[in-house]
Amino acid sequence: MPGLGTFPVSVKVDGRRIVIVGGDDEALAKARLAARTRAETVVIAPEFEADFSALDVKLVERHAAPCDFFGAALAFVADHGAAGARARRMARLAGVPANEVDVPGNCDFFTPAIIDRAPISIAISSEGAAPVLARLVRARIESVLSPRLGDIARLAGSMRAKVSRLLTDGVSRRRYYEDLVTAPALERALESGQGEAVADALLSRHAARQPSGAGVVWLIGAGPGAVDLLTLRAQRLLQEADVIVHDQLVPDAVVEMGRRDAERVSVGKAKGHHSFSQAQINTLIVRLASEGKKVARLKSGDPMVFGRAGEEVAALRKAGIDYAIVPGVTSALAAAADTATPVTLRKVSSGFVFATAHGADNQDLTHWAALAQSGLTLGLYMGKSIAAKVASDLMARGLSGQVPVGVVVNAGRADKSLHAGTIAGLASGQAEFAEGPAIIFIGPAVASGDWAGAAELMRQQSRVA
Ligand code: SAH
Repeated sequence: MPGLGTFPVSVKVDGRRIVIVGGDDEALAKARLAARTRAETVVIAPEFEADFSALDVKLVERHAAPCDFFGAALAFVADHGAAGARARRMARLAGVPANEVDVPGNCDFFTPAIIDRAPISIAISSEGAAPVLARLVRARIESVLSPRLGDIARLAGSMRAKVSRLLTDGVSRRRYYEDLVTAPALERALESGQGEAVADALLSRHAARQPSGAGVVWLIGAGPGAVDLLTLRAQRLLQEADVIVHDQLVPDAVVEMGRRDAERVSVGKAKGHHSFSQAQINTLIVRLASEGKKVARLKSGDPMVFGRAGEEVAALRKAGIDYAIVPGVTSALAAAADTATPVTLRKVSSGFVFATAHGADNQDLTHWAALAQSGLTLGLYMGKSIAAKVASDLMARGLSGQVPVGVVVNAGRADKSLHAGTIAGLASGQAEFAEGPAIIFIGPAVASGDWAGAAELMRQQSRVA
């Protein structure tokens, strides 16, 4: 029959007792749940096999008796024998709902998968039918909630008396709370213990009928292009953003992860398509945030690596706009992961240098040749179209032609393609690279990677590794 067979409620347990019958691991798991509440947790069993010592619970070493259940809020029975059946009867006689662990037929209630951001709790129940699915649903919900949700709720709760005094009608109170719990600056303020100050300042503005509507810009690293290489924070902020301003290199699937009704602006910046100048982008994000919008400035990889974040941050600072930066997986590290290449390696490579091949001058090249010759791993960005020239320039400045090289096109994505060989091979200019952005690794550590399936950089040369 369709329809719910259970009705979700939150049972008040503060100052009351939760009784757990049993002393094994099943009982321990329930004791752990109960101990997170403000209830008194009492575990009753003739003997305790599991170790309860880490929990703040009361252990009673005997069989359960009727008096154990009077006035209790809930009972869990983790004993599936005759003693367990007696305990359930006693609970029922005392009017206490009982749950026989993992036996849905013997349960008056079920324990859902719980998201605990006290005082906020979210429960996902499958009425005992599919607890594993419930846990997966929980993980998905967890990923979009701020870890500070509980603090935000407590702060809002602590403002109630002041808010009622200063804001007399329901509508303005509701507006205040909406502004408060979504205030971009609130999370950071809570981190530094300034939450109440922010809440008070906002309240004064609301009381003076000048709600601020301050915007924010989040510079978010989208990673190399695979949706599941986005961080949880990136995902959550994308969900909150009113506008998503993204570069060309960020794939649609990632841009799609924002709210459906969020405005999306592509600012181009793919090679050869300068649809927006950097100055125009700076002006755009400042304007959007000044209109009170929450702006997700989505950049490929990590925003601080060849992302012109420095200029955008400077513009935001100058305009006095709140901002935050969310790191992402930079493409060189995605390429390292794709090919199991350790960019640092004991006794081989004591460090790595990520640099842009595009625009490298004489001094840069001399410098890198020396670094790679000494064992450091070079990761070159923006170098695919000039790869052969860079390689021969490095050789001309003393880098051995035998130094291993690996190229990863479309790192971190399903359509990645690999090339492996030596500096001399790359310098030969024979390699034909696939469409897409690429990372060029140069250095002895590259030989320790797994370049299986990689195309040769030059015909008839010995492979690395
Ligand atoms: N902020 C980005 C870099 C942007 S500059 C990051 O941290 O990755 C653009 C250059 O990044 C490209 O020319 C290319 O060298 C590199 N790049 C970006 N995405 C890439 C990918 N999926 N695979 C390989 N290289 C990539």
